[in-house]
Amino acid sequence: MDHLNSIRNFSIISHIDHGKSTLADRLLEITHTIPKEKMKPQFLDTMDLEREKGITIKLQPCRMEYDFNGQKYILNLVDTPGHVDFSYEVSRSLAAVEGALLLVDATKGIQAQTLANLELAKKQNLVIIPIVNKIDLFPPYKTQGSEFDSGARVEETVKDLAHLLGVDESNVLKISAKANINIDKVLEAIIKNIPAPKKEGEEKPFRALIFGSKYDSYKGVIAYVRIIDGQITGVKKIRLLGSGAQGETKEIGFFKPELIPQTKLSAGEIGYIATGIKEPDKVLVGDTITEEQTKFFVQPLPGYQKPEPMVFASLYTENPDDFDLLKEALLRLRLNDPSFIFEPETKEGLGRGFRCGFLGTLHAEIISERLSREFGLNMVISTPSVVYKTIDQKDKEVFIYSATDWPDPAKIKKAEEPYVSLEILTPIEYLGKVLDIIKNLEGKYVKTKYLTDRRAILIYETPLREVIINLFEKIKGATQGYASMNYKILGFRPGKLVKMEVLIAGKKEEAFSKIVPEERAFQEGKTLVRKLKEALPSQQFEVALQAIISGKIIARETIRARRKDVTGYLYGGDVTRKKKLLEKQKKGKQELRNKGRVRIPSKTFLDVFRG
Ligand code: GDP
Ligand code: MG
Repeated sequence: MDHLNSIRNFSIISHIDHGKSTLADRLLEITHTIPKEKMKPQFLDTMDLEREKGITIKLQPCRMEYDFNGQKYILNLVDTPGHVDFSYEVSRSLAAVEGALLLVDATKGIQAQTLANLELAKKQNLVIIPIVNKIDLFPPYKTQGSEFDSGARVEETVKDLAHLLGVDESNVLKISAKANINIDKVLEAIIKNIPAPKKEGEEKPFRALIFGSKYDSYKGVIAYVRIIDGQITGVKKIRLLGSGAQGETKEIGFFKPELIPQTKLSAGEIGYIATGIKEPDKVLVGDTITEEQTKFFVQPLPGYQKPEPMVFASLYTENPDDFDLLKEALLRLRLNDPSFIFEPETKEGLGRGFRCGFLGTLHAEIISERLSREFGLNMVISTPSVVYKTIDQKDKEVFIYSATDWPDPAKIKKAEEPYVSLEILTPIEYLGKVLDIIKNLEGKYVKTKYLTDRRAILIYETPLREVIINLFEKIKGATQGYASMNYKILGFRPGKLVKMEVLIAGKKEEAFSKIVPEERAFQEGKTLVRKLKEALPSQQFEVALQAIISGKIIARETIRARRKDVTGYLYGGDVTRKKKLLEKQKKGKQELRNKGRVRIPSKTFLDVFRG
């Protein structure tokens, strides 16, 4: 059998926690890719954070070898992140393979990411191998406080999956990744059902698809690639067709999963190319690598797009002296994750920090958590907001990443904000609870689709702003984790948005400014001044806290004066003395008030800002 015919490139797609990493572990074991003594759970999740959170963030590919019916096969696994924030990366990983294992947890059934990833896999015309996992667990039983029987519903899940894919139930594999049941059947299906890479690209000029990357200070960005056409050998001048960057191959090779240098990579294979390029944002997922000398003969691969952050948040260190450390840390993290962006920002009271753009809220959470773990920084991250767009009288569009940049209302013809199509997949037992939550969202209900007779998908169009403030947690909480959610950006749509500002003792404090929908401004303003009242220590005089919009007060709270008992030590009856002291105190207060200064401790900023 020729080399190409022995290759199988595949991915595992599933909802979070359905067992992707555990199945990958079993495959690594059976194929003896990792010696038993070196094996540890979730081997391909290379970061501690991934192991702890149980989510795969960084794609870690791996090449395995397996003997089947006297033949030797090369199996290339490309793991994918299972979260909505990373769906572009998932789509590029899927473009690198011919088939996908669709893994579904028998205790959870089909969930939102199962569907979202399946949709991406179908777009790439991948062969899908349906698998029901966790068959070792107990069948359904009633648990307290749940409206839904927990436990493994193996046959039901098989039926649902077969129905979803339009295949016979006998095609659905039943396995336990954890208890090592039927893993050989998975390998057999990979070899028998997933096609070998097509031959046609072999003779063409070299072309490779980037589906991931890692930074190396000596070799530059190491691109994870699928060789689409031709081959590459030795040291070559290369060109990236999307970014236009030039480089020189410092090393090429395979993943085992550590990097093993090779002399050649050819069409159909999966491996890495050390590009020598030192700017990580020049080597983005989805880009095409070719040789410099053939760059005019090669078409870029379809689907390349630059990551576009939609969710923004500010990062500040608790200790202002850590600013330089934070900057260093952000630069370092960005080397391995070009999908987030940042720029310095200064806020009165908070000092210097960074305004950062992320793919979504999980992405933001991951970055801030890595900053604290890997760099020991104590961070404060602001409540996330979305990117807004304003259009002025001359139809000029401006993207607004921070409330500070919101234009004068007189200059705004209209404002727009990103909308999403929200899909919530839930067992029908929880349909009512989910509806209770989403009926409070702005936007419009589109429809309810029945996936099976026990599972429904609610489709709703809503501003992204509504989704990023803990909607996911709320839905999970209300449904014991049985409902799941996915969203797709629909684009910008008009919104009645205004800038809310805060006055403290009559002085504007820009750090607390916020973009809010007009119809919720009143509520938002009330919440904000109340929060401020709790966070701000009382002064020697009365302090007014006001939320205003275009100069109009929409909410107000007052912090009572702290009256220092200046007369306390004057026991006895020296009334005139007492009066005099009180006079003096009053005068002092007046002076303070005239100066108009309320010193706002940075802790107050942090408390309010933290959201
Ligand atoms: P991933 O998020 O899809 O990568 O899922 P993981 O592989 O991290 O698995 C999530 C959880 O399910 C872990 O606690 C695993 O130990 C557990 N798990 C995975 N496969 C099985 C299985 O076949 N049976 C049981 N009982 N648990 C499993
Ligand atoms: Mg995982």
